[in-house]
Amino acid sequence: MEDTFKHKGLRKKLVDEIRAKGISDEQVLQAMNSVPRHLFMDNSFIGFAYVDKAFPISSGQTISQPYTVAFQTEALQVKRTDKVLEVGTGSGYQAAVLCEMGVSLFTIERQRSLYDFARILLPKLGYHPQFFYGDGYLGLPTYGPFDKIIVTAGADTVPLKLKEQLVIGGRMVIPVGNRQHQVMKIILRINENDYSEQEVGNFVFVPMLPGLADQNKDHQ
Ligand code: SAH
Repeated sequence: MEDTFKHKGLRKKLVDEIRAKGISDEQVLQAMNSVPRHLFMDNSFIGFAYVDKAFPISSGQTISQPYTVAFQTEALQVKRTDKVLEVGTGSGYQAAVLCEMGVSLFTIERQRSLYDFARILLPKLGYHPQFFYGDGYLGLPTYGPFDKIIVTAGADTVPLKLKEQLVIGGRMVIPVGNRQHQVMKIILRINENDYSEQEVGNFVFVPMLPGLADQNKDHQ
C-alpha cells in the first residue's frame, strides 16, 4: 500500500497531461492528483498506472482511462453536498476520485469479485462510499433520488429507472451505444416528466451486463 515520491511524481505528470488534453476543473484534477491509481491495479500493471490508458483488472473488466475518468467527473459537475450514484464500481478508482471530492457516494457493481475487492480496498485508503452488489440498470430506488448519476459501463439505452432516480435538476453522465463505441450523454432532469439530453463526445467502455438472478436485493 505504498505511495512513494516516484508514484506522486508520475501522478502529477499524468494530471498535467490530462489538463493539457482539455480538462480544466481544478477540483477534478486535484482529486486525481491525490488518489493513488497504482493501488487499484494488479501488481504486474503497476508500471502502467500513470499512463493515460485503460487497463485490464479482473473478471474481464477494465479500470477506465484517466482522461475518461476526468472527463466524466468534470461533466458531472459535483458539489461536496451531492448525493451521487455510480454504476460499475469496477476497481473502485472512479469511486475514490468522487469520494476525494467530498460527495456522498453510493456505488453498485454486478460482479461479486470486483465488489468484494473495492469494498475492502477503498476504506483502507480512507474512502467510505456505500457499496452495493447488484444490477446497476435498476439503480438503488430505496436510496435515491440522487443529485448526480455516473454510469461507467457502456449502456445500450439510457435506463428509465436511472432517470427516475434523479432529483429534479439532477444530472446523469452515461456512455450509450453498442459494444464497439459509445456516445457520452448528459441527461438533465427538468421536471417530473421531462429530461434534456446532450451528446458530448465518443468513448469506448466495456459493455454494461445484464443483472444476475441472485442480485437486486438492494442491500449491502
Ligand atoms: N468505474 C470503474 C470502471 C469499471 S468498468 C473504475 O473506475 O474502475 C465497468 C464496470 O461496470 C465493470 O466492473 C462491470 O462489472 C460493471 N458493470 C457492468 N454491468 C453492470 C451492471 N448492470 N450493473 C452494475 N455494474 C455493472
